[in-house]
Amino acid sequence: MICADPEAEHLSAQFGAAAVTKALRTVLARARARLSRPGEQVPSIADLLTAAAQDLADRHRESLMGVINATGVVIHTNLGRAPLAPEAVAAMVTVAGYGNLELDLEGGRRASRQDHLDSLIAEITGAQAGLAVNNCAGAVVLALAALGAGTPVIVSRGELVEIGGGFRVPDIVAQSGAQMVEIGTTNRTHLSDYDQALADHAQTRMILRTHPSNFRITGFTSAPSLKDLATFAHARGLLLIEDLGGGALVDLTPFGIAGEPTVQASLQAGVDLVVFSGDKLLGGPQAGIIAGRRDLIETLAKHPLARALRLDKLSLAALGATLRLYRPPNHPMSAVPVLRMLTQSAETIKARGLALQSLLAKVANLQIQIVVTEGFAGGGALPMQALSGFALQLSVPGLSAEDFARRLRTGASPVVGRIAQDRLLLEMRTVSDQELAPLASAIAQAIA
Ligand SMILES: *Cc1c(COP(=O)(O)O)cnc(C)c1O
Repeated sequence: MICADPEAEHLSAQFGAAAVTKALRTVLARARARLSRPGEQVPSIADLLTAAAQDLADRHRESLMGVINATGVVIHTNLGRAPLAPEAVAAMVTVAGYGNLELDLEGGRRASRQDHLDSLIAEITGAQAGLAVNNCAGAVVLALAALGAGTPVIVSRGELVEIGGGFRVPDIVAQSGAQMVEIGTTNRTHLSDYDQALADHAQTRMILRTHPSNFRITGFTSAPSLKDLATFAHARGLLLIEDLGGGALVDLTPFGIAGEPTVQASLQAGVDLVVFSGDKLLGGPQAGIIAGRRDLIETLAKHPLARALRLDKLSLAALGATLRLYRPPNHPMSAVPVLRMLTQSAETIKARGLALQSLLAKVANLQIQIVVTEGFAGGGALPMQALSGFALQLSVPGLSAEDFARRLRTGASPVVGRIAQDRLLLEMRTVSDQELAPLASAIAQAIA
């Protein structure tokens, strides 16, 4: 008889009768369980229907949503890494229908989807050629499988890193079919270690160098420079492949961000293939980019794994548009959101905090303080780079920081802040000016 209630019929029209019946069963079961406790009232049919409607609405909500990133972490893997530039978003929309993905419009013949990126990657990195696949982990597997399967690959013990999300260099090498030869120690590796490994493994064709993206070994450390390692490798007929991870195309040192080598510098040092992510410092979509010698890129492109790891048309379009932001007349430091956020001035960030504060002035019960913070730049990239920022510290009497943070995360437009010393902080570096008004309403709703 609940199902015959006009409200239930209304829900059935919206969500389908089967889903409504299921939701009502769930709600009834919960109500029965509660009734076993002393003092519980029997819920009315209207109460049950309201609960069922809430349940149905929750189920129909998209699971994947946009969020406002108020963590201050610019390249946040859990929040989808790099936010795309408007140009990249527009490029995705353009090819979302049909597009000339694999068609040469001039000759009317089949073409390769890689043609759209090859010369662009080459132009921007200074490499002979370029190739893009699904992600950096895939690109490393492809490079090792195509050039080193069945042969020893030399890796320094100081570079046997785990990036997170299941990327561990030893496992990746194993997956590619290459045999890993570890040399040196955690903190020190010398050219003589590479020489010794070659003496023991005559079949070696390749040295793999990995950028330790998410940790630093400091103190008594040593590793040959990239240039020395390249000279060493080439003198012995070996390839030098570098997994650079972060993929900076601009030197960030003048902006106070040290320790991120550029792709161009690696190629100039003589690395044969450089592999890097599309959605870290490059600021584009998820992708793994390989730049380097044309003959090697061609070998990779022909390998069966290249097909399995190929980039889809949306990411390909977004990557092309992002790469174009690196060439004149564009200015990547302002056009690429990741670079803009990383290098914003303290005044800009503080001004944003003040603007949000004034938008929140009329919200009852809310206590606001602007605080100076020491944030970190990124998860998978620049983990050690402290970037000072400004945050709004928010509190409501009687509401814990955890509860406040949860309410913000689970609202209609989710906001992710951070908690430090039992206080809720909304970092202003990673919030855009356009997000200020929606952010203010989300805060007001969370405590309404
Ligand atoms: C981040 C990173 C990877 C993994 O990149 P994905 O694009 O997430 O696959 C691999 N190697 C290094 C050195 C990295 O920093």
